[in-house]
Amino acid sequence: MPGLYLHIPFCKQACHYCDFHFSTSLGLKSQFVDALLKEMTLRRAYLPDPSAPLETIYFGGGTPSLLTGDELRRIFAAIEATFSVSAQAEITLEANPDDLTPAKLAELAASPINRLSIGLQSFHEPHLRLMNRAHSAAESGQAVRQAQAAGFENISVDLIYGVPAASHAIWEADLAQLFALNVPHVSAYALTIEPDTAFGRRLKKGTFVAPPEEFVATQFEMLLSQLRANGYEQYEISNFCRPGRESRHNANYWRGVPYLGLGPSAHSFDGRSRQYAVANNPQYVAAVLERGEVPATIEQLSPLDQANEYLLTSLRTSRGCDLAHLRDVLGLNLLADRAAYLASLVAQGMATLDADVLRLTDAGKLLADHITLELFADAPAAAV
Ligand code: SF4
Repeated sequence: MPGLYLHIPFCKQACHYCDFHFSTSLGLKSQFVDALLKEMTLRRAYLPDPSAPLETIYFGGGTPSLLTGDELRRIFAAIEATFSVSAQAEITLEANPDDLTPAKLAELAASPINRLSIGLQSFHEPHLRLMNRAHSAAESGQAVRQAQAAGFENISVDLIYGVPAASHAIWEADLAQLFALNVPHVSAYALTIEPDTAFGRRLKKGTFVAPPEEFVATQFEMLLSQLRANGYEQYEISNFCRPGRESRHNANYWRGVPYLGLGPSAHSFDGRSRQYAVANNPQYVAAVLERGEVPATIEQLSPLDQANEYLLTSLRTSRGCDLAHLRDVLGLNLLADRAAYLASLVAQGMATLDADVLRLTDAGKLLADHITLELFADAPAAAV
């Protein structure tokens, strides 16, 4: 069953690593909500089966916890008037700790939202300041505990590793604080330095030094071993959960289930093509409200694109890449065409190949992007 994604493109301040689409100017927020509701009506027929009940709804951003109670109520009323929603739908809202006051949490608990994804990133004050997060270290843990007290059990937290530090002690302490919170889902990402961010500009000027690859790799290994020891499964390279507690919304992305994305910069997928809405709040609002259209780039997916997308997403998951499916359904025969490369991955301990399913090992996960590129349909043969 399909999913609905709503991009809320506002943040209180710009985190120094972030290249998502957002604005720190909140002046357009009310008009944005008007535009979002209108876009919902304009694009209600986008999904292949518009009457199929939505299985997941995901408020991402940006910072969806900046929506007021009234704005959320308007959005949910419009969703219910426009779509059919499964009674068991997973409805997630991304939230920042500084927004999760007891009053805000009571408001969220009274809404249809049944899952919170809280962007903690760190429990270490100097790291939060380095990354220009809007919350304090004390608020990181407090937000989760208050959310649990408000009745939210289905909570995911985001953490970032590979932040410059003299040793691994801070990451070790972050992990210990994470386990004390006892949440069912964790997303953990290596700090990446994107060019169009404050860190990227400082890196270019020589005023920021990224940690060496080995430092980041060690923290990834610490993450894997400690999460496993605490009962979490790694179901995707950056995502971990207690048994049965995957993010259904994200798992559906990786399985190629269609979804409708609303809001500026939101992506949509109808099974054959992808669509990317304009990443500009004033342009989005004006186009939707004044002209009744959503400026977007549409990419038709060729069979080659579909095969490469399947490779890209499946190799990141614990289910692995079904090479027979890739051959029989998507027309890419890696078992025959790349037999030597596959054998070299297995021989070097980077992957396993069982019943035609290729899965990366922990060592292979560190090189997932590289291995995927090597296996892409138009990539030349190469050794690991
Ligand atoms: S709050 Fe989230 S979306 Fe906003 S700048 Fe920070 S990381 Fe990016």
